Amino acid sequence: MAEKSCSQCEGTGWLLVNEDGKQVARRCRCFFNRQTEVLWEQARIPKRYRNCSLGNFEVHNDSHRDALKISRQFVKNYPAQEVGLLFIGPCGVGKTHLAVAIIRELIEKNNVPCASYDFREIIRDIQGTFTPDSNISESDVLAPVFDVEVLVLDELGAKRTTAWVEETVFYIINQRYNQKKLTIFTSNYLDTEEEADGRDAFYKKGGDSLVDRIGVRLRSRLYEMCKVVEIWGDDYRKIAKQASYRF
Ligand SMILES: [Zn+2]
Repeated sequence: MAEKSCSQCEGTGWLLVNEDGKQVARRCRCFFNRQTEVLWEQARIPKRYRNCSLGNFEVHNDSHRDALKISRQFVKNYPAQEVGLLFIGPCGVGKTHLAVAIIRELIEKNNVPCASYDFREIIRDIQGTFTPDSNISESDVLAPVFDVEVLVLDELGAKRTTAWVEETVFYIINQRYNQKKLTIFTSNYLDTEEEADGRDAFYKKGGDSLVDRIGVRLRSRLYEMCKVVEIWGDDYRKIAKQASYRF
């Protein structure tokens, strides 16, 4: 709602209301609506996920049901929620959908500043600051990642770990951990223990597990700051798409 079009407050964002016989100034509803719109724009939700909500998340198996329940609980608990979430599972099971849906609810219901970043994008942006003609610094890239109340870090481990990447990611995550800020991670890499597990090949791209991808130190930090939510299932994005083709 544009400021000038509000008939309630005539664009001032304030209303004078009677309380116990006294006139007091209160924020008009349009003020909060406008704030919500700004927060939504700042949340950097990728186009293809912009319509994702908890309401339109499709439940096809028990892991979807559990993950949805945990997501709703997370929103309900906020700001008392103490740990973040780590959604783990193969491509197309709805990890990013849920992560985005959670921050949508937090923005729309509580006006919480949230942002979504692709892990690879942060790494690329930081690397970009190393070129001599870059006019932004590493701290320019990292400031919003550190500061935002709730961060979605998508596709954790989707880039081969080098010592530098591992150090950088640990730095980011540790910073948020120390500031007690909530982070919601998604990863395609299953957190396998050493023993062999019988799960499907989706998880075993080149034999890598989450530990192979992010290192032991980061994994243990993740466990301290997140509830791990495993999602499994058929690639429903593919199935839904196929089902929509009519012949
Ligand atoms: Zn108004």
